[in-house]
Amino acid sequence: MKADADSMTWKTGEHTGVSEHMLLTVEQGKRLIDRLEQKHGLPMAEMTALIDANCPKLRDYVRLKAREIGDRIYGKNIYIRGLIEFTNYCKNDCYYCGIRCSNTKAERYRLSREDIMACCREGKKLGFRTFVLQGGEDPYYTDDCIVDLIHQIRTAFPDCAITLSIGERERESYERFWEAGADRYLLRHETAAESHYQKLHPENLSLKHRKRCLWNLKEIGYQTGCGFMVGSPGQTSEHLAEDFTFIRELQPEMVGIGPFIPHSDTPFAEETQGSMELTLYLLSLLRIQQPDLLLPATTALATIHPRGRELGIGAGANVVMPNLSPVGVRDKYALYDGKVCTGEEAAECRNCLERRMESVGYHIAVGRGDHRNIDF
Ligand code: SF4
Repeated sequence: MKADADSMTWKTGEHTGVSEHMLLTVEQGKRLIDRLEQKHGLPMAEMTALIDANCPKLRDYVRLKAREIGDRIYGKNIYIRGLIEFTNYCKNDCYYCGIRCSNTKAERYRLSREDIMACCREGKKLGFRTFVLQGGEDPYYTDDCIVDLIHQIRTAFPDCAITLSIGERERESYERFWEAGADRYLLRHETAAESHYQKLHPENLSLKHRKRCLWNLKEIGYQTGCGFMVGSPGQTSEHLAEDFTFIRELQPEMVGIGPFIPHSDTPFAEETQGSMELTLYLLSLLRIQQPDLLLPATTALATIHPRGRELGIGAGANVVMPNLSPVGVRDKYALYDGKVCTGEEAAECRNCLERRMESVGYHIAVGRGDHRNIDF
């Protein structure tokens, strides 16, 4: 429900199809934002109302606040993560994903250990001090394979952080990766609402297990990242408010959010793309709720707007994740249509991002860019 600038409505009760309209002024919205800043969380109904109240005046208000908070903690630094998409095989069949196992049109690839090490070497030369090993849930890479890979990267690049993003595994596997030297783990929960999770995933995947994995990662000691899509099919403001509640409970070190973008070879091919304005608004609200978060300005944001990354930084993000994968495979790691930056060499990407960050008054920080624990 969209509102006019000064007098806004929102609705609740989406699950039952019953709309319950309430009135919220911009001033009331600002007061809720101030309360979010003080308490670092809002009750579900208020958070839902605040999300539904997304409008230009409130976006300006949260953006300035979010940026001021982010600058206080991380300064003008933007951390870079070198993304190595090492396999696009996946045993899962998430309805929104271009590399889901039943997409027979996806051209599959796997990188060898030598390929991955070459990406890291190139990344190190370019100033990257974090490597993100990302892939589908590919059983080809057994726990032993991943442990060997971590050992090799850890030995060759002792000053670099190793981030894994390889989906759901058993706690014992996560423990082995941690002991081998992995530092961080990204596992988007995609939606914290059970009913919504079931709309996005086949029956064999469960939100309960996904959340259990995230809790395991936190308990083991990883800097843990969760995240969700904005505007995925069937998503309501209440679902988004549940995401904020879950994030408040989990206290992750990172949260990755980006607009939902349909992929033409999935069941969601005809669904509407998520909104950039709402994504930016939510980025700012996340920064305000949990000030010390590492928040990426995602490639999906850059895909739906030519200055999406810069706008993401302006809304409170402080991380960018350029691609270090070999150019020959980049367009094959297509989770959604139209993904940008699939053609440029890593060095070009790095330089382009540097210029983009500088254009909005920030700079790329060379360093691991670890999470800072702040008492708030
Ligand atoms: S979203 Fe992740 S787990 Fe789901 S099909 Fe795609 S790569 Fe696999």
